[in-house]
Amino acid sequence: MSKTGTDAQKPWFKRLSLTTWIFIALVAGVFVGFFMQGTADFAATYIKPFGTIFLNLLKFICVPLVLFSIICGVISLDDARKVGSIGGKTIVLYLLTTVFAVCIGLLFANVLNVGAGYTLSAEELAYEAAESPSFIDTIVNIFPSNFLDPMVQATMLQVIVIGLFFGFGIMFVGEKATIVKDFCIAMAEVCMKVMQGILYLAPIGVFGLLVPVVAANGPDILGPLMWLIAVMAIACVVQVGLVYTGLIKFLARKSPLKFLKGEAPVMSFAFASASSMGTLPINMECAEKMGVSKEVTSFVLPLGATINMDGTSIYQGICAVFIAQVFGIDLSIGAQVTIVLTALLASIGTAGVPGSGMIMLALVLGSVGLPLEGIALVAGVDRILDMLRTTVNVTGDGAVAQVVDAMEKRKMAKRAQAAEPAGAVE
Ligand code: ASP
Repeated sequence: MSKTGTDAQKPWFKRLSLTTWIFIALVAGVFVGFFMQGTADFAATYIKPFGTIFLNLLKFICVPLVLFSIICGVISLDDARKVGSIGGKTIVLYLLTTVFAVCIGLLFANVLNVGAGYTLSAEELAYEAAESPSFIDTIVNIFPSNFLDPMVQATMLQVIVIGLFFGFGIMFVGEKATIVKDFCIAMAEVCMKVMQGILYLAPIGVFGLLVPVVAANGPDILGPLMWLIAVMAIACVVQVGLVYTGLIKFLARKSPLKFLKGEAPVMSFAFASASSMGTLPINMECAEKMGVSKEVTSFVLPLGATINMDGTSIYQGICAVFIAQVFGIDLSIGAQVTIVLTALLASIGTAGVPGSGMIMLALVLGSVGLPLEGIALVAGVDRILDMLRTTVNVTGDGAVAQVVDAMEKRKMAKRAQAAEPAGAVE
């Protein structure tokens, strides 16, 4: 995906980056969608399948990619204490940034009155919300009772747990498990290559996903939902501009500007593709370019692409308030605290592929008794919201990787200093 020295000799269409191609597909998708408004059925029958194929491919590679990346992440850390240290910091930072994200979402949604001026009666809505698990089920469901089922059903949290157990298993068995270790490392690389291959289809996939939505909804859907999109964008900018740059400045002790510059290709790819999982290889490459060690990137980033969805939780907080306001339901402080907790769980359970955050929104709405039909209100502009939230999702992963790496390096430096013989100090 990076440019080579021979770029100048390539034809113009090969010189454009994949991200640029996805942006071209986005713009083309909007235009074609507008022109196909009279033939929305045709778009749904003949163009949507290209988007569905792309989504299917992303979902298919998700399971092996995460499984082998997590196993490799654990075994690359060599000893269990290191996994504990890096894993502990990672989980705490992921949870904290997500809680901040929901709170920022709720704050802006309330203060800026996100649902103001929107009038659409419930009868006009016809959306069947996908079933989502209850709060307690979500926790119990993290632990698999079967090895194959999580792979087949693509229940990503269970896949992560299996990856962690096998990673530790391989680590503790040691030499005898060398063959398994080598296999997993090779498989992780193969999966990464397969993902990169799938990503070349992203422009076609994005076009196929967008055209039917625009053709079915037209530009009219945008008008009343502009404020929702604006509030979401403001909250996302605050999360990146305050929370992540704060983390980089005070915990990683690095320049936030340099971080944002280094992370720019990741952000633009995530914005265009709306998939954290699809952005994972680029996020790993950019983090390593910015000096993060491979042992940190190979553990922190695959985990983040699966469980750390700050943008998605901002979205869930904002959408909950939006739907409550539109339906004239008052959300008490208690209800908003429940939203923080469920959005945290829902974002952990959201897969890093386009559109999955909207399915998990049902869990959040259900927890505070908001009408699930409200999802239909936001469905028409979900692609735009998805682009925003995915950009925040991957930037959060990148920022946490920087912080964990810097903290680990400081710890090692301190240890090395303490181990130095007293005579060596002048
Ligand atoms: N598309 C998002 C991602 O891949 C998930 C979501 O739909 O919220 O990170």
